[in-house]
Amino acid sequence: MLNIILFGAPGSGKGTQSDFIVKKYGLQHLSTGDVLRSEIKSGSELGKEIDSIISKGNLVPDHKMIHIIAHYLDTLPNDCKGVIFDGYPRTVEQAEALTLLLERRNMEAVMIDLAVDEDEVIKRLLNRGKTSGRADDNFETIKKRIKIYHEVTKPVCGYYLKRHNYFLINGNYSMEDTFAQVDTILSLINKN
Ligand code: ADP
Repeated sequence: MLNIILFGAPGSGKGTQSDFIVKKYGLQHLSTGDVLRSEIKSGSELGKEIDSIISKGNLVPDHKMIHIIAHYLDTLPNDCKGVIFDGYPRTVEQAEALTLLLERRNMEAVMIDLAVDEDEVIKRLLNRGKTSGRADDNFETIKKRIKIYHEVTKPVCGYYLKRHNYFLINGNYSMEDTFAQVDTILSLINKN
């Protein structure tokens, strides 16, 4: 199994790169942001709770996220070639939980970190906000999401670096040129 954690700031291109990877490698794509937004759309009580968290740019509590991931792993098809985790883990606690959940299934995950300059990230998110309809794609909330990213999420890199499961690439380039770097790493890992 080829399990990839696509990591990076909001707007670093995790979703876009996931689409490229799915096309070439046939992996399952788990975007926790998409899962949460579909819960909001359903209008459930949980969805309302999540909405009030996300629209303020805050993180959904770890225990809720870990529950979502555990459920997702339980429902993977038997012929699954691997998973792209897009938007998870966002805290060290989430990373530790993922390690346990994967170990129980004799699996592990490799992190690919998309490094993108802050100016570029803000530009992309403001641009996306014109059409995304996402309540969190406005300047105030973007700033808050980036702050939380640096304070709470960024340390997750260290967790994977220590485990020697970490690759850093430059995500400032075009989608295609960024994917060329991702692809080089994936073809290398896929061989082993
Ligand atoms: P982006 O990476 O562009 O900020 P996402 O679609 O990945 O967007 O996530 C949107 C929001 O969903 C986050 O700002 C956060 O509120 C919530 N979220 C997504 N994944 C997680 C997670 N693993 N832990 C906590 N909250 C999450």
